[in-house]
Amino acid sequence: MKIRVAINGYGTIGKRVADAVLKQRDMILAGVTKTKPNFEANIAKSKGIKVYAASADKLKSFQDAGMDVSGTLEDLIRDCDVVVDCTPGKVGATYKPMYEKAGVKAVFQGGEKHDVAGFSFNAVCNYSEALGRDFVRVVSCNTTGLCRSLYALDRAFGVDKARVVLIRRGADPSEDKKGPINSILPDPVTIPSHHGPDVQKVLPHIGITTSAFAVPTTLMHVHWLNLELGKSASEGDVLSVLSSYRRIMLVSASEGVDSTSQIVEYARDLGRHRYDMPELVVFKESVKSFGRELYLTQAVHQESIVVPENIDAIRAMTRLCETAEESMKMTDESLGLGG
Ligand code: NAD
Repeated sequence: MKIRVAINGYGTIGKRVADAVLKQRDMILAGVTKTKPNFEANIAKSKGIKVYAASADKLKSFQDAGMDVSGTLEDLIRDCDVVVDCTPGKVGATYKPMYEKAGVKAVFQGGEKHDVAGFSFNAVCNYSEALGRDFVRVVSCNTTGLCRSLYALDRAFGVDKARVVLIRRGADPSEDKKGPINSILPDPVTIPSHHGPDVQKVLPHIGITTSAFAVPTTLMHVHWLNLELGKSASEGDVLSVLSSYRRIMLVSASEGVDSTSQIVEYARDLGRHRYDMPELVVFKESVKSFGRELYLTQAVHQESIVVPENIDAIRAMTRLCETAEESMKMTDESLGLGG
């Protein structure tokens, strides 16, 4: 059986999820929506992807630009089993009534509130709880990164307490109107930032407090973690656990991968499309243990880390795979992740 997937919102996340869907042998990309007939719409069409206008009032701009579209979002959702909503934060929730009325399942992104779906997803943490659901929210890039490492360490050693500082990229590379361009911005200045409570939507038992700062860079986020473990773990124990998980990549400063720039260079040299790095990247030499107290630094490529999670969410909701391991293996192999 092949599941027909529609993408509403073909921007940073939408175009990557669309490309990933095209690589799945159990999925068909039914089409994508665009709000305007720009270069992204042109490229999608040149790849053979069906482009739909986001709404009827946008049709004229496509006609004026001489670009044929296959209809509107309403037509697209009639022709699919699952919509992956990749519209900007808070916009997705406005579409939920339309998806409900059409009787299609929907995956929302981390810019929506947990309540939009009533269930927040991360593949390794709670795949089985997503089985058969109609609505799922894939958590944000930062929350996805934190869930991956905290889940692995909690399973192995227990995580009694997590204190995390997030150094956030100010904007994505294509966002020329966002900042800061000359500031370190506590985001927010109060504690906690929303990330800790968001992690608890997926891992409710982890006592986590987060503080976040936005800085003038577009490449990646960096997280500094200070954890109190349930039992002592050596640095070797921690590295061995982290390296045994899918979607966690250890990099070594001794080999020159010691910054977000170098991670991006590494991704380019690996031949990764758009220099995407959907793995959570942990700096090996940052892992420092003092018995039950652990420090580590990790980096998140915000544009791509949630892409494999979206694919797994589709499989869980449509019961294409009954287990996380089965789905994650298929996803990772198709996207060229892992060994
Ligand atoms: P984006 O702005 O890059 O893309 C959104 C796309 O939706 C654009 O193409 C825009 O034209 C289109 N759009 C706008 N209004 C629309 C509407 N009413 N109907 C249909 N399409 C519409 O945004 P993004 O970065 O891809 O973010 C999408 C979601 O993913 C958000 O919830 C965001 O929080 C989440 N997310 C973003 C990142 C990231 O770092 N960019 C990481 C993880 C999760």
